[in-house]
Amino acid sequence: MQEQKTVWTILKILDWTRQYFASKGVENPRLDAEVLLCAVLRKSRIQLYTNFDEPLQENELKQYRTYVARRAAREPVAYILGKKGFMDYEFKVTRDTLIPRPETELLVENLIRLNREKGPRRILDLGCGSGAIIDSLLGGLPEATGMAVDINPGAVAVTRENAETIGVADRLEVLVSDLYARVPREPKFQVVVSNPPYIPEGDLPGLQQEVQKEPRAALDGGKDGLDFYRRILEDIWQVLDPRGMVAFEIGIHEGEPVAELCRKAGFDCVKVCRDYGDVERMVFAGKGDSDYGHEILEIKER
Ligand code: GLN
Repeated sequence: MQEQKTVWTILKILDWTRQYFASKGVENPRLDAEVLLCAVLRKSRIQLYTNFDEPLQENELKQYRTYVARRAAREPVAYILGKKGFMDYEFKVTRDTLIPRPETELLVENLIRLNREKGPRRILDLGCGSGAIIDSLLGGLPEATGMAVDINPGAVAVTRENAETIGVADRLEVLVSDLYARVPREPKFQVVVSNPPYIPEGDLPGLQQEVQKEPRAALDGGKDGLDFYRRILEDIWQVLDPRGMVAFEIGIHEGEPVAELCRKAGFDCVKVCRDYGDVERMVFAGKGDSDYGHEILEIKER
């Protein structure tokens, strides 16, 4: 008698995977099952829905199974696919880089708005990771040039590669550097931006399993989460144009402490803004007599 082999159609395997992911504590089991299957089959989600009865080929099943196993082990979808959408672009991501978050788009959008009509700007991104911030800024500000630094050479390479894909690499210098260590003191920058590691070290063990797969060095902000803001602001005037500005992404409850560090560094126009979840997420700072002071105070709080 011939053995009855299960035919795995698109619908059947999605149903199975959804249940399996749910049993492993994956937050959006059906969505992730679909997104991973789309990548294997090179179909859009609509195409999955209109081809529910289509059976998977042996090689497709094999690749899907490896993706499913990785996701069930709580590896983020972005690492499995090696990419993540951010602003209008698709960024390559690796285990060397934090995965770009939607709330970081707000930081970029505000910076583009603040700099759009200011002519050529030099922008420094400290801890560039995948390059999501600096590459998108250069994409949105055609006259700007940038320098991207990260302590991790793997991250710097990814920033460069993404800059090439987006078509801004000719306006970007990349550098392996521990914050300012290897950044030239001249010429000065008009914008310094950073999404530094900001999670208080004691909170790291409680993070979602997916986040724990991201580089610890990109998350760990020391005892109170503020180590990098202190270090960046202490030496900011070695690289920042006196008429320039600084912009940070921040963690939960870090608005006032980071604003205070900015004031101590000599910025008198400081604004804390919230993200889509109504959490304080960004700080912008400049001097009152700079190119930015008033506009910073006028940024919408959310
Ligand atoms: N946004 C990340 C998180 O909340 C943290 C990124 C960072 O430390 N800069 O998990």
